[in-house]
Amino acid sequence: MSNNKPENPVKRRDFLRSVLHTLSGITLGGIAGFLIGRSSNKEMVWQLDPNICVQCEKCSLNCVLPQSAVKVVHSYSMCGYCDLCSGYLQPGAKSRDTGAENQLCPTGAIKRTFVEDPYFEYSVDEELCIGCGKCVKGCDSFGNGSLYLQVRYNLCLNCNECSIARLCPSRAFRRVPADSPYILRGDESKKHEVI
Ligand code: SF4
Ligand code: SF4
Ligand code: SF4
Repeated sequence: MSNNKPENPVKRRDFLRSVLHTLSGITLGGIAGFLIGRSSNKEMVWQLDPNICVQCEKCSLNCVLPQSAVKVVHSYSMCGYCDLCSGYLQPGAKSRDTGAENQLCPTGAIKRTFVEDPYFEYSVDEELCIGCGKCVKGCDSFGNGSLYLQVRYNLCLNCNECSIARLCPSRAFRRVPADSPYILRGDESKKHEVI
């Protein structure tokens, strides 16, 4: 197993989180741009294609890490900011509020914040996310597909043989260049392509 973990993952994770938290419209392309300056062109890393993933939950179970390196990310440009969010609320939830019993996420990793009537913003606390994909399935089923899974490089060990890739039923995992490591959806994807 090779280990391409950054020297100071905590610092880097805090940096990424602060950027995501501060700018709700931040693009993952921007994050990829940040990685460009730190990665060799020849380096390859694992990534999953969110357009092929079927949210089987194995990303949360099969990573060699105690908590998966796969996290849900949110494309704010695609999100409908819905009150009735199928990525946040349990199907048939009795009320549309932040009560734990109404939430789809088993770890409470998605935060719902009122913007203005009738809009709500949804953000992800990646430390709580286990990469189970339940919210992704919910968002894909009735929403815009703005929630999707990606491997996070501040966590991934870049195993020579990724145990998730081996067991992924849809073969969604593949090696991608470290200098363009994210497979993005929405406008973020387009911006990323022209970086
Ligand atoms: S193992 Fe494959 S299909 Fe299952 S959630 Fe992960 S990427 Fe998606
Ligand atoms: S439902 Fe699963 S993938 Fe979505 S935020 Fe919660 S832990 Fe992460
Ligand atoms: S390469 Fe290793 S650490 Fe990274 S997602 Fe796969 S199993 Fe987890």
